[in-house]
Amino acid sequence: MSCLKQDAGNPTLFYGEGRDFNPAAVMRPRKPSPTPKERRNGADVKNSAILPTGVYRPNNNIQTPDMRSPDYVQMSTAAAITLGVMQGNMHRCSCTRCLNLLLTYPEGCRANCAYCGLARHREADRNYADRNFIRVDWPAVPMAQIVDIVARDGADSPFHRMCISMITHPRSDADTVSVLKAWTHRIDPNSIPVSILSNPTTMSRDDVAALKDLGADIFTVALDAATPEIFDVTRGKGVDSPHSWRKYWEILNHARDIFGPNKFGAHIVVGMGETEHEVLSLVQRLVDIGGHSHMFCFFPERGSLMDHLPATPRDQWRRVQLGRYLIDYRGVRVENMQFDDAGRVKDFGLPKSELDAVIEEGVAFRTSGCPGKFAEDVSACDRPYGDSPPSNIASYPFQLNKRDIAKIRRQLEVPRECS
Ligand code: SF4
Repeated sequence: MSCLKQDAGNPTLFYGEGRDFNPAAVMRPRKPSPTPKERRNGADVKNSAILPTGVYRPNNNIQTPDMRSPDYVQMSTAAAITLGVMQGNMHRCSCTRCLNLLLTYPEGCRANCAYCGLARHREADRNYADRNFIRVDWPAVPMAQIVDIVARDGADSPFHRMCISMITHPRSDADTVSVLKAWTHRIDPNSIPVSILSNPTTMSRDDVAALKDLGADIFTVALDAATPEIFDVTRGKGVDSPHSWRKYWEILNHARDIFGPNKFGAHIVVGMGETEHEVLSLVQRLVDIGGHSHMFCFFPERGSLMDHLPATPRDQWRRVQLGRYLIDYRGVRVENMQFDDAGRVKDFGLPKSELDAVIEEGVAFRTSGCPGKFAEDVSACDRPYGDSPPSNIASYPFQLNKRDIAKIRRQLEVPRECS
């Protein structure tokens, strides 16, 4: 088994038919279809009532067992390979450094976000535990087995961080607490710190504070959309989903107060119709309140309401990756950058030689997220091939080599300075 997915289809469609950015007018989700009554709310799994045994690997040809958090959680294919509960290889990576645990229920996530493989509309044809998410399968594993393995490995564990990913479900707040307690009962959160990928829609300030008190290290909010308008179209009323920009910012501000500087952040998906100026202004806003941004390159997730749309062109993505890195880690401000009439970065606000050195280091183009044990600007959460195929990498899950840097320079149209 490999964590590499073959993406069928036409690369011209994937990368925007020659455009160098994804405009708002193109990035419109299709409407969700009604779900037949007999498929709603995990009815298929609940009516079958098959008890799970051990690790469950997504498989649309057998009956999905009835698995529920906190006893069961799902994890990415990369995490399952690294933990040793699945066999497989990853292109140019030996492991992932983040053990990402996703809450699981037969009813699945009750939200309907347009770009997401876990969205509610998918219950029409695929049970929750069998759905693809950020391009890979997510096996379900007993929580007790996970804790046993990581506690046994101790200081030899390959993981630099654990992350609990909440979903929109009535049990999600309470079960996040249970999963966190199960972890900290056996594993020192100072040796493998814990991040929370929150679900603001169901949360209050007290919920945020409780997670901090129980030992969580970093709290993140998946804004995903860079503007309130795109948020509403892709995560709110536009797709019959319960989320609101206002509520997400309310919880983000609580996280700022409770977790403090550099201990909170927001996920942003780039290329859903925002301009580069808009997304980098959001990055600046987050830095100004003490947070970080974790970026994802939009990819048309199979089965999602945006699976007919083009992936973010690489030149747009590279400009935003570089701009975000300069704002987050090099003290550059968005006001010092220059943008053209379409909001594209024309000038990054740094002398050419300094910009050249940052590009040459390559860190700006690695996957962004919560830090691990290597450096503050190197994410533990490396999400191998979560936002692109390995043939055209968007977020590099490893240190780039000279050929990777040369490719990025071509995408950015920034040739190397002669010394
Ligand atoms: S809330 Fe999260 S998991 Fe649920 S559909 Fe939206 S993006 Fe996907």
